[in-house]
Amino acid sequence: MKVYHLSAECYPVAKVGGLADVVGALPKYQNQMGLQAAVVMPYYERKFVQENEWEVVFDGQSLLGIHRFFFEVLKEKTDKLGFELYLIKIPGLLDRENVYSYPDETEQFLAFQIAFLDWISWTHQSPDLIHCHDHHTGLVPFLLYHSKLYHRLAETPTILTIHNGQYHGAFSWGKLSLLPEIDMTKTGLLDWNGGINPLASAVKCCWRYTTVSPTYLEELTYRSNGMEYLFYMERAKGSGIINGIDTEVWNPKTDAMIAEKFSLRQLAAGKQKNKDVLCERFKLTNDKPLISFIGRLVGEKGADLLPAAIRQTIMAHPGGVNFIVLGAGEVKVQDELKALAVEFPEQFNVFIGYDEPLAHQVYAGSDFLLMPSRVEPCGLNQLYALRYGTVPIVRVTGGLKDTVIDYGDDGGYGIRFIQASVADIVHATGRAVEVYGNTPLIQLLRKRMMALDFSWDRSAKEYINLYESLKPAI
Ligand code: ADP
Repeated sequence: MKVYHLSAECYPVAKVGGLADVVGALPKYQNQMGLQAAVVMPYYERKFVQENEWEVVFDGQSLLGIHRFFFEVLKEKTDKLGFELYLIKIPGLLDRENVYSYPDETEQFLAFQIAFLDWISWTHQSPDLIHCHDHHTGLVPFLLYHSKLYHRLAETPTILTIHNGQYHGAFSWGKLSLLPEIDMTKTGLLDWNGGINPLASAVKCCWRYTTVSPTYLEELTYRSNGMEYLFYMERAKGSGIINGIDTEVWNPKTDAMIAEKFSLRQLAAGKQKNKDVLCERFKLTNDKPLISFIGRLVGEKGADLLPAAIRQTIMAHPGGVNFIVLGAGEVKVQDELKALAVEFPEQFNVFIGYDEPLAHQVYAGSDFLLMPSRVEPCGLNQLYALRYGTVPIVRVTGGLKDTVIDYGDDGGYGIRFIQASVADIVHATGRAVEVYGNTPLIQLLRKRMMALDFSWDRSAKEYINLYESLKPAI
């Protein structure tokens, strides 16, 4: 079965968040299970692109409204990621460094989708399935089924995976003319709330959609930035599949990015050595419970709650708890965290920025990982934390609810709290301090966590089952 994954991100080519981790791993595991899965993504001027060898497999031209654009499809020569990787390069549109946040983002992703469809169309390819990820690729199902340009491919099944349903990629009807020739009687399938909404269009037109956790599937019906009613109506087409993690990249036994590799057998010593190195780097003492946060400093992640919650926890346990934050995002939160580090230099430190190796070290060296998310479609951080024997402290939302069992419940290993509020976080961090003080308990929780299996084998199989349920069309 030949499957194309379409995505704006793919690790290690270009990563902003969890989408990249999923698209960088799922196809590899699907291929190991006998599929022919490939990834197609926009070209970015990035290290991975510069350091690897590419072959131009196609070059052509197409139209974005009245503007002609030229594009190339480049293939990574060795399939080193475990799947065929294609980049679509469009001079002037898709040849930049960053993934998002350009003022012409609508045009960028629209041109990407048109170029992809033109490429497979003109080269007479007939993939068995096209798997779209998030709104950046959300117009593909509509264009496949309702543009006569792609009539030959109109029977191709499409699946949409929603990694983040808060972003829709909506733009105004004034830009309709940027789309290729479409069936104008079907424009209702593009519309949501008075605009062209790629995510809504994908939900309406795809054969099936998935979310990255079962709880998130339900949550979208009452919290999805204005698309609640659509998710409610289309609920029967949806299913939730928890992300796996790439257990080759995230493996404390082999991880070259951490100071001391460790397994279950040398767990306590391995964790402590990593904690020592981490604390030294952040100028903290290494004998206190260490609670860390990694992630985008945005409201979705509850990052605005961190400064007050950290301050109150430190005040409640004078000299008894340390914190580290690794992240970048809203300037106000960054500034508050920097001020907090000056106020409590012995108990708190922050690294503002994105640093992949440092993230590995923080997972390995921390005792607890705090995730006070307001929205968390799946969340990968808690899964990485589990793998490195770090107790997740999570707000019960989305994938956090599906993957973390409170240590007070049967077989539990984490700490759960209900509200995204400072009071709830402080209560939860208080429980963390207690857990840390009970050595046999924390050792037991670490062992339980490290024995869990969140590998891609399970999730990749679930996606394949979904693809196969679409037979006999495939
Ligand atoms: P989201 O995609 O919403 O940002 P996820 O939990 O799905 O959240 O994925 C976040 C990914 O990004 C994880 O791999 C996490 O380790 C990584 N990450 C987030 N912020 C940073 C940072 N500042 N430095 C390094 N890695 C980060």
